[in-house]
Amino acid sequence: MTKAAIEAENKEIAKEYKELLKISYRNLSAEDKRLIRSAFDVAVDAHKDQRRKSGEAYIFHPIAVAKIVAAEIGLDATSIAAALLHDVVEDTEYGLVDIERMFGEAVARIVDGLTKISALEYDSDVSLQAENFRKMLLTLNEDVRVIIIKIADRLHNMQTMESMPEEKQVKIASETLYIYAPLAHRIGLYNIKTELEDLGLKYTEPEVYNDILSKIKESKEEQDAYIKDFSKVIKESLDAEKLEYDIKGRPKSIFSIRRKMISQNVSFDEVYDKFAVRIIYKSDQESEKFLAWKIYSIVTDHFRPNPMRLRDWISSPKSTGYEALHITVMGPKGRWVEVQIRSERMNEIAEKGYAAHYKYKTKEDDDGGLDDWLNKLQETLENAEISAVDFVEEFKLNLYSKEIFIFSPKGDLYSLPKGATALDFSFHVHTEVGLHTRGAKVNGKLVPLSHVLKSGDQVEIITSDRSKPTANWLNYVVTGRARSKIKSSLKEEQKQIASEGKVVLARKLKSLKISLDEKTINQLVGFFKLKTSLDLFYRVGAGIIDNQMLKDFAAARNNMFMSFFKNRIRKPSHPEEIDKDEITLKYDQLVFGKEQEKLDYKMAKCCNPIPGDDVFGFVTVNEGIKVHKQNCPNALQLQSNYNYRIMMAKWIDSTQQEFIANLIITGIDAMGLVNNVTKVISNNLHIDMKSVHFDTNDGTFTGKITVVVKNKKILENLITNIKKINGIDKVSRV
Ligand code: MN
Repeated sequence: MTKAAIEAENKEIAKEYKELLKISYRNLSAEDKRLIRSAFDVAVDAHKDQRRKSGEAYIFHPIAVAKIVAAEIGLDATSIAAALLHDVVEDTEYGLVDIERMFGEAVARIVDGLTKISALEYDSDVSLQAENFRKMLLTLNEDVRVIIIKIADRLHNMQTMESMPEEKQVKIASETLYIYAPLAHRIGLYNIKTELEDLGLKYTEPEVYNDILSKIKESKEEQDAYIKDFSKVIKESLDAEKLEYDIKGRPKSIFSIRRKMISQNVSFDEVYDKFAVRIIYKSDQESEKFLAWKIYSIVTDHFRPNPMRLRDWISSPKSTGYEALHITVMGPKGRWVEVQIRSERMNEIAEKGYAAHYKYKTKEDDDGGLDDWLNKLQETLENAEISAVDFVEEFKLNLYSKEIFIFSPKGDLYSLPKGATALDFSFHVHTEVGLHTRGAKVNGKLVPLSHVLKSGDQVEIITSDRSKPTANWLNYVVTGRARSKIKSSLKEEQKQIASEGKVVLARKLKSLKISLDEKTINQLVGFFKLKTSLDLFYRVGAGIIDNQMLKDFAAARNNMFMSFFKNRIRKPSHPEEIDKDEITLKYDQLVFGKEQEKLDYKMAKCCNPIPGDDVFGFVTVNEGIKVHKQNCPNALQLQSNYNYRIMMAKWIDSTQQEFIANLIITGIDAMGLVNNVTKVISNNLHIDMKSVHFDTNDGTFTGKITVVVKNKKILENLITNIKKINGIDKVSRV
């Protein structure tokens, strides 16, 4: 570099530094400025021989990060100094001890946290984002400012990624979308989150990004005209109320337009809410809420509101501190448009995050605002109940979870949580509809009950008086409402079966010369290792306890070992905890994955799960599946390092399970045979016939029958009974 070039660069550095002080969101004291100055000097010296890939002096990067921290996030001098120094320990001769000696413990601790995170990023042979993330969270125990500065660092790196090799761009961009954007969202840094997402898309899907960007530019003029039309209508009324306000269009980010295009499977032109109207008004803090509703009232006087889309985040702000009143109205040209009503203060909080609060606090608790926010953040982020993986997932869920809107065939509009299925919708319409759902059509096409709905779907539910919930339905729904209705219906059915079972039991015992009295019931409950009499009746009713088992009981009762099992009658340790009116679950079967498969497994020695525990499966290299408790001390480490080897697992009561079985029946074609077969099936309690198909050929016939049964015993009984029918030659299960 020539001397002139170096001088020019130094001038530029000095200019950037001055601007850093000028744009700081907080008022800096003389002492603050001294701290920042010396951090700047050390950073300049430390990075003096370093250049970025783009060729510019390295120091521009820490200054830029400090500017984001100071101006966009509004953090304190300690954070600004730490931002200036954030790469010093990692990249230069200076050590942490030097930093602590010169800047004190707080700055040193933050720089240390940031250094540790970078070390993780570059040590990425193991590109395990979740694990990086977890470690990052652990550093939070020290100071949440570490994370905030890290986000600023990431933002500047994303802004200046042009000269990096492409594969690195993609890696950094995906990590940003996966971790940093949701994190910025959680912290309430709306503007930064949006920018991170857009930049993330720019590098992961450049074509898509550029395409949407150019379309947004094209439609800009039309948008401006629309906002103008909108403003014109309400301006007079707002002015008459002597309100001071500003009406702006707020375009949706490229990333969120993209997300909408994918989730609703629509083109750019079909995304209807590409921008929102934002009304920002001046107000003192006492009248803020009142004025918001006044503006709401004026807007809805002129434009018809969609009552489903009213969101009052003034009365109950979001956890990020976000406050505003949102309403979607039918705007000019009959288009739905979202109107966001916010005071200037609310607007600043929305854009900068909760840190902006401090500005509005009184002098005495000036620092309280920021500290409160930092403390609250730390609490949210530290929640030790959830693993790192869940945490990331939960982020994404919260971030993207929104309601969906579903139309009935008549055009009625219903809102459901995202992820809701056809069956959820059915229960949402009416409990009776839900309980008798037979099938569903989405946009005219027949779909499974578990079909996940999309906003805008038109859903028609097909009902039948004979349809009723089965235990499998619980796997098809996500809403609490549907779940509880299904559960109570299943309970009703169990009670029904139990009451039938009681009658059957009395009859069967009578033939064994035993009377069904309380003593016998207690003996039976003990013999079959059950908990309540209802359990017993249910199992008899469902055919799980059959004749042979009752004979075994009678034999045991009569022989001299009777006294033995009498003593073994299991008295629950806390009898009051068992509801006599409840069919208790036995948790005798462990199943894996969404399909609830039965697989071989071993219990992990580290936590020794027992039936009923919350567990997960871990696929080991040599020993098959090992089952750990969710709260096993090793769980976090396994889930974050080897997420791909984790299998969902849960305990079920095998007596509540249902199986589909296919039977092939062959025989001689005799009169009324088909009728007899179906009669046997339908007479048999608790067998659900799914399909029947008979073929005859020169006096012989073949039948295919699909049934749903609760257990093998019931199926075996059925097969025996069908075999007894005259003309049947063979019954086999396929
Ligand atoms: Mn950096």
